[in-house]
Amino acid sequence: MKTLLRKILFVDLFKGMALTFKTIFKKPVTVRYPKEKRAIEPGFRGRHALVRESETDRERCIACTKCAVVCPSQCIHIEYVINSETATRSLTKYEIDALRCIFCGYCEEVCPVNAIVLTEFYEYASYSREENYFDKEVLLKNWDEFIRQYEGRDYINKFWYLPGINRERLPVGKRQPKAIFKTKE
Ligand code: SF4
Ligand code: SF4
Repeated sequence: MKTLLRKILFVDLFKGMALTFKTIFKKPVTVRYPKEKRAIEPGFRGRHALVRESETDRERCIACTKCAVVCPSQCIHIEYVINSETATRSLTKYEIDALRCIFCGYCEEVCPVNAIVLTEFYEYASYSREENYFDKEVLLKNWDEFIRQYEGRDYINKFWYLPGINRERLPVGKRQPKAIFKTKE
């Protein structure tokens, strides 16, 4: 009987209308994307990039493979050669299968020289899997595109220096926040 009465009197309809009128003049919580975009919080984990050193125009990565070892998704593949004279490694292949990435940020944290970045860029949806399989050149290009917006300003990624970490226990290259500057045009 009660339910029937509610239906006859359009109680639920009026309740819905009341809610609509209550919120109609409030500021909307949504934005008109893509015309409007929200500001990205520092440390947002978006598209991957390999830092390009502006002095050498090459990747900063030293091919230590720590990021590939720590990656829980095992989506980083690295190959390198060893220079017998200098005993240093040179990167020959660096690939990330971004569709397998869970954006944990471990690769950024573990990298001793801050060479890998999950940039704050998020608009990289594509129609094929291949476009989200990033090789070294693509990762460097991702960096160039990302850092261009800084126009010479400092860039320090939040996940390179997590709060609460004993700096003395970090690799030398990570102890002091060192800014990265805009890459060469
Ligand atoms: S963010 Fe995590 S899952 Fe993604 S590549 Fe880095 S370590 Fe692997
Ligand atoms: S941890 Fe850093 S330096 Fe080492 S292989 Fe990964 S990106 Fe390169």
